[in-house]
Amino acid sequence: MRDKIVIANWKMNGSREANRAWIESYRATGVRPDCRVVVCAPSVYLAELAPACRELGIELGAEDVNENASGAFTGEVSASMLADVGASWCIVGHSERRHIYGETDNRVAMKALALAKAGLRPIVCLGETLEEREKGMTEAVVLRQLNAVLAVLPPAKWGAVAYEPVWAIGTGRTATPETAQTVHASIRRRLGCYASEGADRLPILYGGSVKPSNARELFRQPDIDGGLIGGAALKAEDFVAVVEAAR
Ligand code: 13P
Repeated sequence: MRDKIVIANWKMNGSREANRAWIESYRATGVRPDCRVVVCAPSVYLAELAPACRELGIELGAEDVNENASGAFTGEVSASMLADVGASWCIVGHSERRHIYGETDNRVAMKALALAKAGLRPIVCLGETLEEREKGMTEAVVLRQLNAVLAVLPPAKWGAVAYEPVWAIGTGRTATPETAQTVHASIRRRLGCYASEGADRLPILYGGSVKPSNARELFRQPDIDGGLIGGAALKAEDFVAVVEAAR
């Protein structure tokens, strides 16, 4: 059995006051999740969020990390710093990092490795652009991104894989459950080569315009083990509705 996980990615949203309100709204729903729940927040807020999340059974994650352990990297945050303030998960290779900040497959792999060394669970994001999909390159792109991380870090050290088609992120255009399932199945097949190292237990999450109205159908697919939620995670009530779809 694989864990079901629903992860919020707040991206560059929030404030101390908004975060407090989110936590109070989450608490007020009285949700008793049947799955693991993780909130990935901007790193400046992690320390303050940590006690409230612990109390609510929410695991805490960051949205990005630097691949170096320490040193002259102005403005960057290391994996051990994230661990120090209470994060146990961290996203790497989000398409916004790959496409806006030019992160390469190799850098994503180094970030995953740095996280594992510091005892954090990397959430490794994969996904093709619309152009790549239209050229029939979806599987090649996703497996290339996957292989780059597998080359440096065995899947037993990963927290989750997240398949996030770039064309579905923030667009309201969700992959159909069948389209997502097809890609998840090829990720699962590739991970099958590492079954002896625990890869069969690694959750594969779907991300891209997941909301309360489509989460249940997506999470029902055999190789979709939960979701990475952007826009619908900004309101606690919507996020909770997605969490409840993961029963
Ligand atoms: P949306 O749910 O807003 O499409 O964002 C998905 C995402 O990028 C999560 O990491």
